[in-house]
This record gives sequence, structure tokens and C-alpha cells, in this order.
Amino acid sequence: MDFDCDQRESVHFFYTLPYSKDTALVETTWLSKINDNSQKDYDKQIKDYIENHLNLKDYKIIYKEEGAIPLFYPVDKNEKNKINIGTAGGMTRLSTGYTFLNIQEHSKYIRENIENIANVKKYKISTKYQFFR
Ligand SMILES: Cc1cc2nc3c(=O)[nH]c(=O)nc-3n(C[C@H](O)[C@H](O)[C@H](O)COP(=O)(O)OP(=O)(O)OC[C@H]3O[C@@H](n4cnc5c(N)ncnc54)[C@H](O)[C@@H]3O)c2cc1C
Repeated sequence: MDFDCDQRESVHFFYTLPYSKDTALVETTWLSKINDNSQKDYDKQIKDYIENHLNLKDYKIIYKEEGAIPLFYPVDKNEKNKINIGTAGGMTRLSTGYTFLNIQEHSKYIRENIENIANVKKYKISTKYQFFR
């Protein structure tokens, strides 16, 4: 994670994840209010980072994606015969946005307890991660 970039009074970092000798994922990440459009010049940010921080001039962008992770817990209410999964099920670690491994553990828990799911304790991520947010 490279925080050596314009923060615009928010929290902003880049990361570069190599897949092979000549391909990598380059990502610009903001912790922001979703309706703050002033931070959404992502293409310009990525171009500037590749050319002026990674010092690459001869490159090609082969794929682009964009997304947002809600960094708050969903409303925790019990509804009969309904199990929320994924982010809606509270599986996102708010300090990082990581969710995939928690989703797998949650799914395993549901599978192991499916016969008695209405009576077992509700699956939650560790309270330590709720503290870290
Ligand atoms: C750029 C980025 C990078 C990330 N990197 C990581 C990472 O490295 N590791 C990690 O653990 N997590 C990562 N995350 C977070 C992770 O992707 C999400 O937390 C995870 O995908 C949440 O899973 P989900 O099933 O709750 O929601 P989603 O994967 O968002 O799935 C929800 C689905 O429901 C559909 N949907 C929504 N509303 C309706 C509706 N009304 N009716 C029908 N369908 C609907 C949507 O179209 C979507 O297909 C990243 C997220 C982003 C944006």
C-alpha cells in the first residue's frame, strides 16, 4: 500500500499487485463518502501513478473495474427464515474491506448447522475486528 499520494483531506492509497513479469493490477483506493465526486477522477489518478511513480511509459491497460465497499455494518435484525450473507450478513472487515474469507467461514457454519439453524448462535466475525474499525 502506497500512501505517498494526494490525500485531498481523505484517506487515499495505491497498490500494485503483480500477476506475472509484465502484468499487474494497479488500484487507486479512497476511504470516502460515496457521494464525493471530486475523488472520482480514477483514470487520471491511475495514469499519473503508472507514469510518474512506477515510471512506466510503455504500457497498455487491458482491463478496468470499479467498485465500492460499504464500510459500515448492516442493520442487525433477526428475520424468520432469512440468513443474510456476504456484506449484508456483516462479513466485511471494516478496517480493510476484506470479506471473502469471512464469507467462506460463514457459509461453512451455515452448512454445518443447517438442520438447526434457527436455534444456533448467529455467526459473527470476531469482536476484535469490530474494535479495529
Ligand atoms: C475494488 C475492490 C476490491 C476488493 N478486494 C477484496 C479483496 O482483495 N479481498 C476481499 O476479501 N474482499 C475484497 N473486496 C470486497 C468484496 O469484493 C466484497 O466485500 C464482496 O464481494 C461482498 O460480497 P457480497 O456477496 O456481499 O456482495 P457482491 O459481491 O456485491 O454481490 C451482491 C450481488 O447482489 C446483486 N444485487 C444487488 N442488489 C440486488 C437486488 N436488489 N436484486 C438482485 N440482485 C441484487 C449484485 O448485482 C451482486 O451481484 C473488494 C471490493 C472492491 C470493490
